[in-house]
Amino acid sequence: MSQKIDNTFEEIISFCKRRGFVYPSSEIYGGFSAVYDYGPYGVELKNAIQQTWWQNMVHEREEVVGLDSAIFMSPKVWEASGHVGGFSDPLAECKKCHTRSRVDHLLEDVGVFADEKMTEEEINKIFADNKDKIKCPKCNSSDFTEAKSFNLLVKSNLGNFTGDWDQEPTYLRGETCQGIYVNFKNILDSTRVKIPFGIAQVGKAFRNEITARQFIFRTREFEQMEFQYFVKPEDSDKEYKRWKKERWEFYVKELGLSEKNLKWHQHENLVFYAKDAWDIEFNFPFGFKELEGVHNRSDYDLTQHAKHSGCDLSYRDPQSGEKYTPWIVETSVGLNRMLLAVICDAYTKEKVDDGERIVLKLKKTLAPVKVAVFPLLKNKPELVAKAKELFDNLKTKWVCEFDDNGNVGKRYRRQDEIGTPYCVTVDFESLEDNAVTVRDRDTMRQERIKIDELEKYFEEKLTN
Ligand code: ATP
Repeated sequence: MSQKIDNTFEEIISFCKRRGFVYPSSEIYGGFSAVYDYGPYGVELKNAIQQTWWQNMVHEREEVVGLDSAIFMSPKVWEASGHVGGFSDPLAECKKCHTRSRVDHLLEDVGVFADEKMTEEEINKIFADNKDKIKCPKCNSSDFTEAKSFNLLVKSNLGNFTGDWDQEPTYLRGETCQGIYVNFKNILDSTRVKIPFGIAQVGKAFRNEITARQFIFRTREFEQMEFQYFVKPEDSDKEYKRWKKERWEFYVKELGLSEKNLKWHQHENLVFYAKDAWDIEFNFPFGFKELEGVHNRSDYDLTQHAKHSGCDLSYRDPQSGEKYTPWIVETSVGLNRMLLAVICDAYTKEKVDDGERIVLKLKKTLAPVKVAVFPLLKNKPELVAKAKELFDNLKTKWVCEFDDNGNVGKRYRRQDEIGTPYCVTVDFESLEDNAVTVRDRDTMRQERIKIDELEKYFEEKLTN
């Protein structure tokens, strides 16, 4: 019997680096704050999560299409969307250690919730009212500067050769969904979609985040998976309810997250255009925090872009001829944050007969390596040759790894840590009976399977 042991966030962070999932950026130069790189297993896991989302949101739905819009867009997009004027967070600096913090987060830590719409003056008032309770997360001091609004858009000098690019900057996109709104008409005109329909996109987004402490939870460069569903205004409540349900089911069924680690959180203070907004929160080692937002955005986005671009972004119902601006139900999640949730949910330390093992109990379809192939002994050429042949065959179907280092027990532990569902060992008997030992990650049970039947065996086990 195995028994689960508690773990800490620091342990998961160091595990991610040690086992090639996530590395701090530019580490040999002392690192680069709030940016991370994905190692060999990290990129496989990230791709598997992304593909699962794409399969579920695009390929399995007749009325949803995909898009890959550019990171750079006309600066006018960010004016229309309100990001140039209002995409900001309140920042205050600790007078003692000079650590900068987001004031809404400092307030949240003491149970006070700031409204996104509040002015600098209003934020400063509640900040002052609660100053005695608020502590700097680094040095515990309560002595802060006043809060100042800090715009999160990352500026660039693209196409600006005058050198005066601070005056007329271009931006790295702060969210991917703007690319969807500005292509709404292109998609209507070039495909056969009819309302209701959705557009999905995965891509990088950039934000000058003030505080970036929680590993890949909040970074300055990250990937979003965003989905905009265009509906008749009167259907928005019904569709909103449906998408809330769909997204919850995705986490439980497709990602295999434990339901006790998930909960809904309704926004207390809605931005003026939103009709309703809920977040799916995940129980990270530092508490329940936003994983994904599901929002009813009304007709705000298309109306804004129609106004600023002068382009008609309304929709004409092909049957009734009725013309209207569609409403949007949005689901928005960070791919990197989702990967962190998946790792935290799966990371398990347990006592086993011969000591302790770390095992990443990932849903099998998500595992970075699906099958590991071993020759029982490294120095027996006939075993190595047969194992190699098997590996060469299986690797055309699944991500496989060949390992002949150390003893089989050690190889099992290494594969358990990265979440490999199956290990296959070629031994002396295999040369006679053409069968191998297949060992299951979770039960640690072994069974003897004919090599001829292996493909079918894995097809059954590794398909959703
Ligand atoms: P917060 O208020 O925590 O800064 P937000 O509510 O502004 O976040 P959204 O703009 O709604 O976040 O972004 C949608 C999703 O994108 C979030 O639920 C999160 O999963 C992801 N996300 C946003 N910012 C970051 C970031 N800096 N790093 C990683 N993921 C992010």
